[in-house]
Amino acid sequence: MTPAKNTVFFATAKQSWLGAEETLPCKLDLILERLNIRERVKGERVAVKMHLGGHVGYSTIHPVFVRRVVKAVLDGGGKPFVTDTSGAVATAYERGYTHETLGCPIYPAAGPDEKHFYTHKRPYKNVREWGLAGEIQEATFLVDLAHIKGHPSCSYGGAIKNLALGTMIAATRSAMHDTNHYDPYWFPEKCPDKSVMDAIIKSCPFGALVRDKNDAARLHLHAEPCNQCMRCLKVAPPGSLKIDPITFRSFMEACAVSTKVCLDTFDREKTAFINIANQMTAVCDCFGFTGPAILNDLGILGSNDIVAIEQATLDLLAPFKIIAENVSSVFELRPDGPHPFAQVHGPFKNPYIAVEECEKLGLGSRAYEIVDVLPYKDNRAIANAPYVSVAEL
Ligand code: SF4
Repeated sequence: MTPAKNTVFFATAKQSWLGAEETLPCKLDLILERLNIRERVKGERVAVKMHLGGHVGYSTIHPVFVRRVVKAVLDGGGKPFVTDTSGAVATAYERGYTHETLGCPIYPAAGPDEKHFYTHKRPYKNVREWGLAGEIQEATFLVDLAHIKGHPSCSYGGAIKNLALGTMIAATRSAMHDTNHYDPYWFPEKCPDKSVMDAIIKSCPFGALVRDKNDAARLHLHAEPCNQCMRCLKVAPPGSLKIDPITFRSFMEACAVSTKVCLDTFDREKTAFINIANQMTAVCDCFGFTGPAILNDLGILGSNDIVAIEQATLDLLAPFKIIAENVSSVFELRPDGPHPFAQVHGPFKNPYIAVEECEKLGLGSRAYEIVDVLPYKDNRAIANAPYVSVAEL
């Protein structure tokens, strides 16, 4: 039986005692059981979509976890394959992902040259059509196995982003990033003095403003490094430059549309979502390196509802404190960010936006019920008696 759609199964990273069953790989097994994966995949061609990282990154989902998902699918009589974009797959073996370590083949989602895809027409701003990877569309069951981390475009990457970007071909991914430039933010007629443009560019401590490569009279805003500090607006003549929420929101709305395009190719009973919230770094796994974790490990969540799992993941992380000493000096922490990830990337990159948009598109519900598969027990009570210091001996 498939559990209620908006149930979110949760396993904490905290250990009640020092046993393997108290650690995340074994707790992942409990989540896979509660999601009834084995009972649901018989005869299915199962795409396990994950981010295989790049170059020397080592904080993507460890093969120990992937193998357990693959084993559950094999146990149930499904035909699993792990999949990601062609570039990540080509070098996956360098980061420990092989058929031998995972237990199933690894395929580039749109083929080695990104030529195997299906076109879906669903205009959103500058994105006229969406190139959905062929291996995803042709699969009959999808396991969205996502690593939680920060992201410079939308502050947070999880189940939605894993599908929104990771199941689309490069041309679509590029168009999605360009949605940041669809709504105008530079009004050259309000800044006739070109030397002032240089002063505006210089005012940004993050290098987010440059001259447009096709038109030197225009300013180009790199949305990724911009944390909306507004220093540039102190220099720009009134009305010449906008740092507006819509610039940042567009990418997150595009992610919701992309996720809808992907999930609409599956029967909803044939999708499952797993978020692994450990080793959470400031930026995406596609950067090709791993920085220090900026949040303590949370654990693992599993659900059949992509909206519920993303809402629950963000809600559980919301009270976490950023580990400030682990944040690179290229960032400026913003206490006004609506979520820890937005404190790193800026308040307009509110990670709840994509979740809300996915709900509006009918992909699930932000109302959820958490079921803790192995609740944490605080065993410190047994040590309540004061300890004896060595000086007293
Ligand atoms: S708002 Fe701040 S980070 Fe963004 S472009 Fe302006 S100065 Fe740079």
